[in-house]
Amino acid sequence: MSLRFDAITKLTDEVEANGSKSSKITAIFGENVFTLKTAREFLSDDAYKSLVGSIKGGKKIDRANAGQIANGLRAWAESKGVTHYTHWFQPLTGTTAEKHDSFFTLKSDGTAIEEFDGAALVQQEPDASSFPNGGLRATFEARGYTAWDPSSPAFIIEIGTGRTLCIPTIFVSYTGESLDYKAPLLKALEALNKHAVDVAHYFDKNVNKVTATLGWEQEYFIIDEALANARPDLVQSGRTVFGAAPAKGQQLEDHYFGSIPERVYAFMRDYETEAYKLGIPLRTRHNEVAPAQFECAPIFEEVNIAVDHNTLLMDVMSRVAKRHKLRVLLHEKPFAGINGSGKHNNWSMATDTGVNLLAPGKTPKTNLMFLTFFVNTIKAVHDYADILRASIASAPNDHRLGANEAPPAIISVFVGQYLFKVLEEVESRVGHNFDEQDEAILKLDLHRSIPELLLDNTDRNRTSPFAFTGNKFEFRAVGSTANCANPMTILNTIMAETLKTFKKDVDALIEKGEKKEVAVMQTIQRYIVESKKVLFEGDGYSEEWHNEAEKRGLPNLKTTPVALDAMVTPKAKKLFLDNNIYTHSELEARHEIELEKYLKKVQIEARVMGDLAINHIIPAGVKYLTQLASNIENLKSVGVPETTYRSQLAILTEVSEHINVVYENVNAMVEARKVANNIADMRERAIAYCDDIKGKYFDVIRYHVDKLEHLVDDEEWTLPKYREMLFLR
Ligand code: ADP
Ligand code: MG
Repeated sequence: MSLRFDAITKLTDEVEANGSKSSKITAIFGENVFTLKTAREFLSDDAYKSLVGSIKGGKKIDRANAGQIANGLRAWAESKGVTHYTHWFQPLTGTTAEKHDSFFTLKSDGTAIEEFDGAALVQQEPDASSFPNGGLRATFEARGYTAWDPSSPAFIIEIGTGRTLCIPTIFVSYTGESLDYKAPLLKALEALNKHAVDVAHYFDKNVNKVTATLGWEQEYFIIDEALANARPDLVQSGRTVFGAAPAKGQQLEDHYFGSIPERVYAFMRDYETEAYKLGIPLRTRHNEVAPAQFECAPIFEEVNIAVDHNTLLMDVMSRVAKRHKLRVLLHEKPFAGINGSGKHNNWSMATDTGVNLLAPGKTPKTNLMFLTFFVNTIKAVHDYADILRASIASAPNDHRLGANEAPPAIISVFVGQYLFKVLEEVESRVGHNFDEQDEAILKLDLHRSIPELLLDNTDRNRTSPFAFTGNKFEFRAVGSTANCANPMTILNTIMAETLKTFKKDVDALIEKGEKKEVAVMQTIQRYIVESKKVLFEGDGYSEEWHNEAEKRGLPNLKTTPVALDAMVTPKAKKLFLDNNIYTHSELEARHEIELEKYLKKVQIEARVMGDLAINHIIPAGVKYLTQLASNIENLKSVGVPETTYRSQLAILTEVSEHINVVYENVNAMVEARKVANNIADMRERAIAYCDDIKGKYFDVIRYHVDKLEHLVDDEEWTLPKYREMLFLR
């Protein structure tokens, strides 16, 4: 029996997987996290003070205190049954990395003890040669090290009965270049903090710190594990490279917000429990538009914590799914013809005085502050749209951006009609002095009017890659597998840079003798004029927008290898160097790593396509041909006229033709790969994989394979079909 039928049989026998017992969330929330509250219990006064100083004020922790903190951490972890620890980091592979060491060690006289000292807490040297480094380290100089990041709390991961203490770290080379997603993110958040505080001081001198906030929304598919295992393409590339559309897809839209299937519900409750223990504040869960697609979202947090929580959750979900004999598909486009998955990044900035800087104000003064940060965001997106686009570029995300389901590859900003009018009003005063009319704008009851008006517009803003949603911006073009750190590093860097320039511009006017409010208003006016071409309120999926965007000169880069160019332009190099985020060599290394990831992913898909075509599809077709041929022979031998079996002859011809086309194209694709592999330049090679391999062959091969799926005897078809993967559970 083929894996496919085996899987279908198993599925019907499967016992309902049990979800974990319901308990009150507050009773378990954060129980596996070394929170400050826990730290207070396990640390001496000095060690605790030193830890808080580092988290709140970025102060260095000295050796003695590090030793004490390590002891406290071990005591806490052991009280929870932990035997091992690991430095946990986010390398550029896109997953998380860990290497477990036990507390257990032998003293020189052979006595066995449990130990975790300050040095082990602060720094480790994983053999880093097999993590991507873009040529930053020659492999013989394989040394990189992970360094403790006290701003992210340590936590305990439970796998089965094993428990491991995870120390969040950054990953850097011996010469100091960052090799992960976290180190540059922390730098970008620091840059934003500095420049946002400076600008906030125009309005409120009490602000000491500005924190960027992130609330992500994670979309994913859930399918039966046995069915997933019977699809080598899902196992190896995360998406189905073949599969004919089922009779029922998402056209009825009956899945969205529908009732959650019981088996999936048990899985959700189970992973949510794990997440709560890790302090991940999940709040919503629901069905998405496509069959078998779901979404979860937490309450927003500081960006660096939210990033950790998202990467951690992706890991937790995949592990918990196994317990339920399910498979989570985080890929941006696991199935053709139905929606893919994204990860909207809701982003804002909050002051330590408790103000959301993107929340419309209630008074003229807070309105001016809101308008300042709001317009600066628009200006940042306008000025650096190409870099923002590059920050979300990846092989899997190429399947979404530009298709009629996800925000387009053209970066534009949606603000809602009401604010659009407000901006137009402000703009119309250019050249005038700040007068009563400007006062009138600032006196508008923004905080009351905007949310209501935005509600009417939600359908429109769905198609925008970057939408204002009342008190935050939603970066909607991020892919579901992405580490949010990358888009967040870019967004916070371009915002920092824009705010820095804003301050210079305003100060220059003040020096010329303008009143502060007038200087701010005039600068806002100028920024609106300079960046308004990035504003778009219409349907982002429409043909007209693509034409209009071209007229406006907005970039529309549909594929990753060219979208990535924006990372290494002189403009990008200056931006990142000036803000101390990336050196030129770090930027070039990252560019190369992203190109390489892209081409490897396309290469894997191409190989999987070839394997499946030759080992699954063509054999199934040939078996069916044999049946048809022998039947036709039999009919012929009993002397029935040819018209009796004319349809069988027609099917036979059709199947043979599709098999021929598949075979020829698979072979031609192998040749194209050989040519591409000989291209020395990484960018050129990635472009060849994009245009000459994916572009030329993927759709053709798939078209004919999917035709075969419709023609060939169902009994002979070995790969689980879309209708089975999407609807059986
Ligand atoms: P909706 O009504 O559209 O569900 P919510 O306010 O509940 O809007 O937020 C949707 C998402 O945005 C959630 O993930 C939430 O955590 C996040 N979010 C809300 N406010 C902020 C903020 N100030 N900064 C960052 N993310 C936010
Ligand atoms: Mg959604």
